[in-house]
Amino acid sequence: MPEITREQLFAYLDDALTEAEMARLEQALRSSEPLRQRLRAVMQERDRGEHSIGAIWRRERLTCPTREQLGSYLLQVLAADFQAYVDFHLTTVACSGCLANLADLQLLQKEPPSQVQHRRRKIFNSSAGLLRVGRDPRR
Ligand SMILES: [Zn+2]
Repeated sequence: MPEITREQLFAYLDDALTEAEMARLEQALRSSEPLRQRLRAVMQERDRGEHSIGAIWRRERLTCPTREQLGSYLLQVLAADFQAYVDFHLTTVACSGCLANLADLQLLQKEPPSQVQHRRRKIFNSSAGLLRVGRDPRR
C-alpha cells in the first residue's frame, strides 16, 4: 500500500480528496492504528494552528456552538479566535437559536448568588415537603 502523506490527511479533513482517495484512506484508517494516531495528530495540529475565522468556518461548517461554549463565550474564556467565531455567529449570522440560548445564559450569570441560594432552598423545601407526604401521619 502506498504511504499516506500528511498532506493527504489534511486534505481528508478538509473533504478535499476524491471519492476513490477517500475510500482508500478510510480503509487504511480502519486497519492501521498508527495511521489513526497520525490523523489525530494532524487534527490537533489543525486545532492549534488553524484558528482563522475562515478555517473555523470550514471546520465547524457553521454549526452552532454548544450551550457550554456559549457560556464560555459569555465568560470570555474561549480561545480568542473561537471567541471571534461565536461573536460572528451571533452578530453577523444572528442565529436565533443561539441568541435565545445566550439570553437565557446571560440571565443565569447575572442572577446574584443570594437568589441562587434562595432558589436552592426552595427546591430543598419542596422536596422535603414531598418526602413528608409519603409518611404515615400517625407516627
Ligand atoms: Zn447558532
